[in-house]
Amino acid sequence: MTKNVAILGSTGSIGKSALDVIDKLPGDFNVWGLSANSNFRDLAQQARKFGARFLSLADADAEWDFRKQADDLSPKLLAHKDFEQRAAEEADIILVAVVGAAGLGGAFAAARAGKRLALANKESLVCGGRLLMDTARESGAEILPVDSEHSAIFQAVHSGKPEEISRIVITASGGPFLERDVEAFDDITVEEALAHPTWSMGAKITVDSATMVNKAFEVIEARWLFDMPAEQIAVLVHPESVVHSLVEFADRSMIAQLSVPDMRLPIQYALTYPARTACGVDRLDLAAQGALTFMEPDGAKFPCLALGFEVAREGGTTGAVFNAANEVAVRAFLAGELKFSKIYRLIRSVLDTHEKGAADSIEEILEADRWARREAEQCLQR
Ligand code: NDP
Ligand code: MG
Repeated sequence: MTKNVAILGSTGSIGKSALDVIDKLPGDFNVWGLSANSNFRDLAQQARKFGARFLSLADADAEWDFRKQADDLSPKLLAHKDFEQRAAEEADIILVAVVGAAGLGGAFAAARAGKRLALANKESLVCGGRLLMDTARESGAEILPVDSEHSAIFQAVHSGKPEEISRIVITASGGPFLERDVEAFDDITVEEALAHPTWSMGAKITVDSATMVNKAFEVIEARWLFDMPAEQIAVLVHPESVVHSLVEFADRSMIAQLSVPDMRLPIQYALTYPARTACGVDRLDLAAQGALTFMEPDGAKFPCLALGFEVAREGGTTGAVFNAANEVAVRAFLAGELKFSKIYRLIRSVLDTHEKGAADSIEEILEADRWARREAEQCLQR
């Protein structure tokens, strides 16, 4: 049966890869709708190619431009909130590939509607993981992780019972500064931070990978997705990005998932699960690959990583605050207003001033997000 898919954030790196996956599986998926922030040109092109029924642009100016330049597609345009709500109600699978806390609305709508949520937007788990998982449990929604590490863990956990899992080991490429001397961190340029050694991704997550905030987020993501306390989650640096993560069981068996690093694989798995089918991804040639290396992360060089464990333990609104402070820091770094080496300090100081709340409602999470953005902007001024 053909499944209707809504892609929120279709013009981004994950969104485009998802459309590539759908393009190669004709008859399996139908594009219900596509949304973006401001990239109306790519959205119009995608809408024509895939015959999307509904479209949306979060940015009001872009919506205006879209109406002028693609008048024939205008009737398909929905207001952003309506789009999120109708996608959740009408599509079978909602792929949330929006970057940042802006993905929360779509993710929670899909979780409330009891649908399959293919979740690339890790920030919604960082900000409101407990509430999102509770919401999904109540409605019967399925959350399929798109993040490659969590897709690997999702595949590995089924090798035993939940109570038999002793540890989740998340692998990390280490990013572009794995070998760089910490004394030279002050001189890191935007260009250097955007040059990831193994993955090609959007700008924000690429900077997050360079600071290892991304891995910190993935610890929090795993904490909620797999209901695993922080003490049973570990991070291992693995520069080849071939072993996407591992699960250790009570008998000390470790089950891993391996493939060439290509996001089309976890995206497709989240769409077709439990079925597996050929996709455009190359075979992993282990002999040609040669040695696979693993090492402990350097906590002194990448202090942001420890924030993941701290926030995973603390819970409540600390996740929303961590995420919002980081979004402000990354924006400032990309704009040349903040040194790479000061990203940690900014996040740390916002977390230190925060008074934790329970994060029992989406309103409370959004309020913590707004507070942290204001606080981070004030820290930047100082
Ligand atoms: P990109 O920056 O490439 O794309 C982001 C998408 O979100 C674009 O379609 C963008 O639209 C849209 N968007 C941005 N802001 C808003 C907003 N306020 N409202 C609605 N839509 C918005 O990001 P990625 O594809 O790299 O990442 C997307 C998510 O997936 C992130 O949460 C990331 O952490 C996660 N992820 C990404 C991986 C990757 O390989 N790229 C791997 C694992 C997880 P527009 O084009 O108009 O700006
Ligand atoms: Mg990842």
